[in-house]
Amino acid sequence: MSDSTLVIWDDVFSGYDFGPSHPLRPLRLELTMALAGQLGVLDRPGVTVQAPTSAPDDLLELVHDPMYVASVKRAPDDLMGRLSLKYGLGTGDVPIFRQMHEAAALVTGATVDAAKAVWEGTHQHAVNISGGLHHAMRGRASGFCVYDDPAVAIAWLLSQGATRVAYVDVDVHHGDGVEAAFYDDPRVLTLSLHESGRTLFPGTGWADQVGADEGVGANVNVALPMGTGDAGWLRAFEAVVPPVLRAFQPQVMLTQHGCDTHALDPLAHLLMSIDGQRVAYRRLHELAHELCGGKWIAVGGGGYEPVQVVPRAWTHLLAEATGAPVDGATPGDWRETARTKGNELAPTSLTDGRSVAWVPWEGGPGAEDDKVDQAVRETREAVFPHLGLDPMSVDG
Ligand SMILES: [Zn+2]
Ligand SMILES: [Zn+2]
Repeated sequence: MSDSTLVIWDDVFSGYDFGPSHPLRPLRLELTMALAGQLGVLDRPGVTVQAPTSAPDDLLELVHDPMYVASVKRAPDDLMGRLSLKYGLGTGDVPIFRQMHEAAALVTGATVDAAKAVWEGTHQHAVNISGGLHHAMRGRASGFCVYDDPAVAIAWLLSQGATRVAYVDVDVHHGDGVEAAFYDDPRVLTLSLHESGRTLFPGTGWADQVGADEGVGANVNVALPMGTGDAGWLRAFEAVVPPVLRAFQPQVMLTQHGCDTHALDPLAHLLMSIDGQRVAYRRLHELAHELCGGKWIAVGGGGYEPVQVVPRAWTHLLAEATGAPVDGATPGDWRETARTKGNELAPTSLTDGRSVAWVPWEGGPGAEDDKVDQAVRETREAVFPHLGLDPMSVDG
């Protein structure tokens, strides 16, 4: 069901590297592209792999404060670090490295390239697995993120005349940077499903954050309890995402695919499997075809299990975006690469072999004592009326 897909990739993405002791390891991207490549996903008909172009300052400044961009450029030479710290640079989460600006501008440029291809119609879908740095703020680095590539790409779409852009963020962390960039803008729907801020960084993303001013109703948060697995996550997704997107009627969708919702992820506390994650990817793909002619831009995001989780999760994303799922065993050559580069035994199967059976939301209040249903109810009650939807009805 896909006409053509652009995959933005270059080995130079590995330059976005905070050092060997930082959880965001470039290895996760390298092993993803190796796995997708060996499975033939990148050689499918209609697939183009293209190197990124760097985002110039005027593009970055659609979202970021010029003073902040200047301080990112200056950070590697700011030996005392005082100026940089003011902008969130030089912290444990965002250590300063040489060529930091160049590496981050390349990731952002790649997501804008993806948006351009989809908006201008040269490709139906476009994927940038290096992107999804959703915590960066207008004037501050945060949560491993220097420039907010999804926000910059959305701002670029608006500059081209887009009036209804939907951003859906399935990373385990709240997509706070993208939310903040468009909180009062009715042209951008931001929708984030995440582990509750009670137990996870960045400590925001509540149901009652529904947007401000003209943007009220165009910001949706589902704050899930720790321990949520496939069945609960997919139940919450289906109870909120399709009705909200159908009400909003996007012209184009940009989705963020952080795979740190997985049970093995070391930084968070949800319990999804690869099987559940790929159902979510399939649903987002289907919704893009249903609602906006397949205009779909997909980016990566978090994911801190660079051998066991990220390569498989995002190979499924690439497989989905290029037309057909992949199944079965991981190739032996890939396992060897993973063992050599990651120094651990790689998974032998492309999925976790889990059943993703789940019970759909049936309307009404849901189960009173179920924490996932409580989260769904809070979101629906807070935001559905602003979208002309009934919080209690299954169809909205
Ligand atoms: Zn498609
Ligand atoms: Zn994350």
